[in-house]
Amino acid sequence: MTAFRIGQGYDIHPLARGRRLVLGGVDIPHDRGLAGHSDADAVLHAVTDALLGAIGAGDIGGHFSDRDPRHRDRPSRDFVLETMAMVRARGWRVGNVDVTVHAEAPKLAPHLDAMRAILAELLGVAPDAANVKATRGEGLGAIGRAEGIAAQAVVLLERA
Ligand code: MG
Repeated sequence: MTAFRIGQGYDIHPLARGRRLVLGGVDIPHDRGLAGHSDADAVLHAVTDALLGAIGAGDIGGHFSDRDPRHRDRPSRDFVLETMAMVRARGWRVGNVDVTVHAEAPKLAPHLDAMRAILAELLGVAPDAANVKATRGEGLGAIGRAEGIAAQAVVLLERA
C-alpha cells in the first residue's frame, strides 16, 4: 500500500481597500486586505489545494465554488477543516506542511508563528511540522508592486 502522498497548492488574490487582511487564519493590520468571495485567505486556500491534490480530489474551486453564495465571506479555515475530514476519511494524516507567502507589504515576520500555530491545529500536526515563511517581491511584478499577495503550499500525507 502506498505510504505517502504529496500535494502542492498555489493561490493569489488582489489587495483592495475596505477589506480585512487575513493570512493563515490571522487578522493582520494593514491599509488594504485581500479581495475575494470568501475571506480570500491565500495561505489557507493554497493549503486546501495542496491537501486536495495529495488525495487526488481536484481543487478548491470544485469543492467550495466561489459562485456558491453559501461560501460568501466564509472563514477559509472551514475549507481546510472540511478538506481534512476528507483526508482522514481516505485513511491519511498530515506529515508536514510548508508554506511560502509572497507579499511586498505588510511585514509578515511578526505573524508567522501565529499562522504556524493555526495551521498546526487545523492539520493536526505538531508546530514544527507546520512551517510558514514569507518573501518579498523586491519590486518586481504584481507582487512587487503590492497589487496582491500569493501563497504556495506543499503537504506530505502519511498513512494513518
Ligand atoms: Mg483563493
